[in-house]
Amino acid sequence: MANRRRVIAGNWKMFKTVNEAEDYAIKFLEEVKDVTDLDVVLCAPFTALHALKNELEESIVHLGAQNMAWAEEGAYTGEISARMLLDVACTYVILGHSERREMFGETDHDVAKKVQQALAVGLTPIFCCGENLKLREEGKAAEWVKNQVASALSGISKDDLLRIIVAYEPIWAIGTGKTASSKDAQEMCANIRATLTELMGSASENVPILYGGSVKAENIGELMQEPDVDGALVGGASLDPLSFAKLIKNA
Ligand code: PEP
Repeated sequence: MANRRRVIAGNWKMFKTVNEAEDYAIKFLEEVKDVTDLDVVLCAPFTALHALKNELEESIVHLGAQNMAWAEEGAYTGEISARMLLDVACTYVILGHSERREMFGETDHDVAKKVQQALAVGLTPIFCCGENLKLREEGKAAEWVKNQVASALSGISKDDLLRIIVAYEPIWAIGTGKTASSKDAQEMCANIRATLTELMGSASENVPILYGGSVKAENIGELMQEPDVDGALVGGASLDPLSFAKLIKNA
């Protein structure tokens, strides 16, 4: 019997100063303090993490980053290491987001190395995959996503698989207001689970798979009804504390 956590993670992207993040945390915590049936994660910009560590301490809200270096430490100007994230109480990190792949040239190989590095220090990777519109229209989406998953998770053990979260984020649905239908989201999340099973066996039944792409308070309920959708990665709709709290309560 599957025993999967349900997870709702907010991705603030490149929004919010330290003051704005602190103000958000106070309002958000007041709204979600009684949530117990799912894991709530806020993935904030690096500069706001330390302030959020103080605000979120001993709360039900977990802290995450949006990227990190694949190297452990060293002469990598401008990079942030997994240990630095742990140091500011991060327990999650988004890896392989399509914006990083498309705008900053991250490859499947880079993402695989980051997943391994995150696991090595005890962070939970929220590994993102998803196709663009052209691939979907050409009927190549399932194969594309399968290859992304196989490549990113190639070097990890079955035990490590249980510490990973996968987020299916079709690129055509991110920030566009176009959500995949719950049927399409379910179909791809089930494909991802089948790929995980092929690679690592039945442990895949316990891996949370999230959907991301224009999720809002109004559509989260329907998406969460699907058997292989265990939560959501939420961009735009996580930026306002009251709207994001409402989305979480509707999940
Ligand atoms: C995202 O950036 O991960 C995302 C899903 O964005 P949005 O919810 O705004 O589509």
